[in-house]
Amino acid sequence: MPELTVCFSSVQVSQTLPFERNCVMDINNIYYERLAEILFPDVVMTVQDMEEKYPPRNLPEDAKVTRFAPSPTGFVHFGGLFPTRVSERLAHQSGGVFLLRIEDTDSKREVEGAEENLIDTLESYGIVFDEGAAAGGGDNGVYGPYRQSLRKPIYHVFAKDLVKRGFAYPCFCTEDELSAIRAEQEAEKADPGYYGKWAVWRDSPIEKIEERLSAGEKFVLRFRSNGNPEHKMKFSDLVKGQVEITENDRDHVLLKSDGIPTYHFAHAVDDHLMRTTHVVRGEEWLSSLPFHIQLFSALGFRLPKYLHISQLMKLEGNSKKKLSKRDHGVDMRWYDANGYVPEALTEYVMTLLNSNYEEWRNANPAEPFEKFPFSIKKMSTSGCLLDMDKLTDVSKNTIAAMSAEKVYDSVLAWARRYERDFAVLLERDPEYAKRILRIGRGGKKPRKDIAVWTDVKPYMGFFYDELFKVEDEIPDGFDPADIKNILLDFAASYNAENDSGEWFSGIKAIADKYGYASDMKAYRQNPSAFKGSVADVSMFIRVAVTGRLNSPDMYEVMQILGIERVVSRVKAAAGRF
Ligand code: GLU
Repeated sequence: MPELTVCFSSVQVSQTLPFERNCVMDINNIYYERLAEILFPDVVMTVQDMEEKYPPRNLPEDAKVTRFAPSPTGFVHFGGLFPTRVSERLAHQSGGVFLLRIEDTDSKREVEGAEENLIDTLESYGIVFDEGAAAGGGDNGVYGPYRQSLRKPIYHVFAKDLVKRGFAYPCFCTEDELSAIRAEQEAEKADPGYYGKWAVWRDSPIEKIEERLSAGEKFVLRFRSNGNPEHKMKFSDLVKGQVEITENDRDHVLLKSDGIPTYHFAHAVDDHLMRTTHVVRGEEWLSSLPFHIQLFSALGFRLPKYLHISQLMKLEGNSKKKLSKRDHGVDMRWYDANGYVPEALTEYVMTLLNSNYEEWRNANPAEPFEKFPFSIKKMSTSGCLLDMDKLTDVSKNTIAAMSAEKVYDSVLAWARRYERDFAVLLERDPEYAKRILRIGRGGKKPRKDIAVWTDVKPYMGFFYDELFKVEDEIPDGFDPADIKNILLDFAASYNAENDSGEWFSGIKAIADKYGYASDMKAYRQNPSAFKGSVADVSMFIRVAVTGRLNSPDMYEVMQILGIERVVSRVKAAAGRF
């Protein structure tokens, strides 16, 4: 057995590791070369070939290359929108590249159709990739393939190279053998894992390895770690700031027994070859960072910059809790089905990502969110809180700022999928629907009736005879004969040609006629002198026309409904008294 003297210069935690591969003492070169050949006899490409095939990108110096690297395990998680949006902003704000890489190395966890769902869902949130896995299979870009399951030959080039340089070795332990090691570690109260004396296949004689290989036994490829857990290092994460990490001493698996890489190895190879400059990912990966640093160093790769994003939290009682898969509002499909507006969710995510976003939005109500100067420095280091009330507020503001045309198009697209009957009504007369949606829009203080698309039908349903129903009754305390007469007088006198001033004077005249104050000031000064006020008279008419106590501006409502509907509804209401 050769004596192993790996000169693995202790891992540097600088984020600009020298672009050169570490060396191994020449005494072992022959052993390693031989090992590499017997493990990967079919790999003929070299690291150099890979470097040439995937050269550094030709981008301006500050341009950032970022990626979203989901595992297609079912659905897009609300929490996934955070790192995705951060990556998208960093790339697009700097003139860089934002790519999609599908991490489909775990076939057990894969779900049929998940990839399509993912690409479609992200697209509906305006998250569009410049490069990467394309919907329906295939690739868009020259740094692919962008599905890890198709990159096996590439990983093997680097795996072979690591073996050749003494940084990786095969391990033939069976599950039972690993369990036995674990049991022994427990008995000895030693830390679990494959390291030190427990790393039983480290430095194995080549003959023993050859024997196993010729018996057709499967192996995993392990990293040969020289880390010392006594050593702490400082690492600068762009979101978390300076964090202290402990060197890794575990001989972690790089390739599984089917030759497919683990996340760690694929992360290093892919992010290097795809020339990622900034890795934005969940903070659950922070604990693997020491290993990743080691791995990049052994591979001779420049370490990317890292942004570890805190998990999304929710309030439970008074305490914050991590959002779990089962929580309501986690699966993005839930938002879609419940009528949440993608633009509003984007807006909400931006408010959570940068503390100064809301201030900017107030000062720039009409600007697209892309104009906001997104800054890593303004990101919160602790977990963001999912606050549905806040989301509702943001949604109302977002929809209030949209044009009627945009609302019409969006709500129609949504209704076609979730409220077919309503979609039919909207399509029947688009101009009519847009006139309704135009009410109270565009001014300084736009109406904020709609938070989700499911609000639209109840909000504007009374404009359609098919949906009109009396939802609110006129409160008790008024003389039914008065109500009847007022309604009949209004029906008889309503003139759709009148402007809003003339229209309201008409209502005031009816109020005076039946002893209801037309002058609100006079009414407030001496309410008992009147049966009520013009506000009550307006309310009778409102309930008659809309079936509700609250509605948008009645003059505009009547203009849109048209004289026939107005008069017939008012008369029908009069008939109930
Ligand atoms: N596939 C990993 C995940 O879904 C990606 C993490 C990363 O962005 O590197 O968590």
